[in-house]
Parts: sequence; C-alpha cells; structure tokens
Amino acid sequence: MKRGLLICISGPSGVGKGTVVRELLRTDPTLSLSVSCTTRPPRKGEREGTDYFFLTKEAFEAEIARGEFIEYDAHFGNYYGTPRSYVERERERGQCVLLEIDVEGALRVKEHEEGVVTIFLAPPGEEALEARLRHRGSEDPAQLALRKARVAYEMSRAKEYDHLVVNDDLERALGEVRAIIRQEKNK
Ligand code: 5GP
Repeated sequence: MKRGLLICISGPSGVGKGTVVRELLRTDPTLSLSVSCTTRPPRKGEREGTDYFFLTKEAFEAEIARGEFIEYDAHFGNYYGTPRSYVERERERGQCVLLEIDVEGALRVKEHEEGVVTIFLAPPGEEALEARLRHRGSEDPAQLALRKARVAYEMSRAKEYDHLVVNDDLERALGEVRAIIRQEKNK
C-alpha cells in the first residue's frame, strides 16, 4: 500500500479555505481531514472533533510534552496543533491527509515530514477578502484588525508554496486543486 500524501492548504483568514476543503472531502473518499487541537474557545456553531478538538492550556501542554504534535504554534494568544497519531494512521492506510494550516505551520511540516504538498489559496483581491472577513462577523474589531494585518504577511510568503491557487471562483479553484492532487499522487 502506497503511503498517502500530506497536503497542506493555507491562505489568509477569510479566503474560503474551509469551503474548498469541505468540497474536496465531500467528493474524494481518498482524502481525510486532520482536525487540529486548539486552546481557543469554540465559536458559535463549532463542534468538538469536527472543527477542532478544544483543549485546555494544561492538556495541550501535556500533549506537547508527549510529542503528539507534528507541529504546533500560538496564534492570537491560543495554541493550535496538528495531532500526529491520526495523520500517521491515515497515511499508513493510503489516505491523503489534508491539513488546513497557517503559513509557518505548513512550511514547518514541509521541512520535517516526507511526502508533503503545499497549496496556497489566494484571494482574488484585497477588497473581496476584507468583505468576507467582515461578513463572517465572528470577531470583535480588535481581533479583526489583527487578522487583517496577518493577511499581508501571509500573502508575502505565498511564493514559498509548491502551488498557488487563486480562489476567484469556487468551482474553478476546486478544479485546479483537484488537478494538483491528481498530479502529485502520480509522481
Ligand atoms: P481560527 O482561530 O480562525 O480557527 O484559526 C486561526 C489560525 O490558526 C489560522 O491561521 C489557522 O490556519 C491556524 N491553525 C489552525 N489549525 C492549526 C494547526 O494545527 N497548526 C497551526 N500551526 N496553525 C493552525
């Protein structure tokens, strides 16, 4: 059995990563999603084990000590990390594992793991992104400002990715991501 790829999908907050990932998973049974752990409180509608595994700071730090994260980082004052056991189990049985992860996390994974493909999802324009962030309405103004500052930085690192896909139109972008995954599997 061929070991599955580890596919990191990044892009600025609000670019539509969640939708792209959801559609990929819905239509391709060879893909598995790694659900990250975090210490941030759940947003309205988020569910344990589906959006994140929500841990206390103490529990998260205990997992760090056990070496349970492929990578982890702090964002906006909370920890986020990718659990190793799930990713390894899925890859061993031939599944490609999707990670929806930030820029540093993705590039760290690329550096330390084998069989990693990095895809950067870029917004078609800054205004579209800002409108989407505001529309989501889940952040207070201070959080929103922090997230917007982060966008410019993440865009500046897009060139370090294996692939860049502009999310101008969902179906078109999805088609491009599917083609990338097909091509990488056949390498
Ligand atoms: P949010 O709070 O909006 O769900 O996520 C905040 C940031 O954390 C996003 O940039 C998201 O990509 C990143 N993130 C989510 N899961 C992980 C993870 O497992 N590891 C790292 N390094 N970042 C993550």
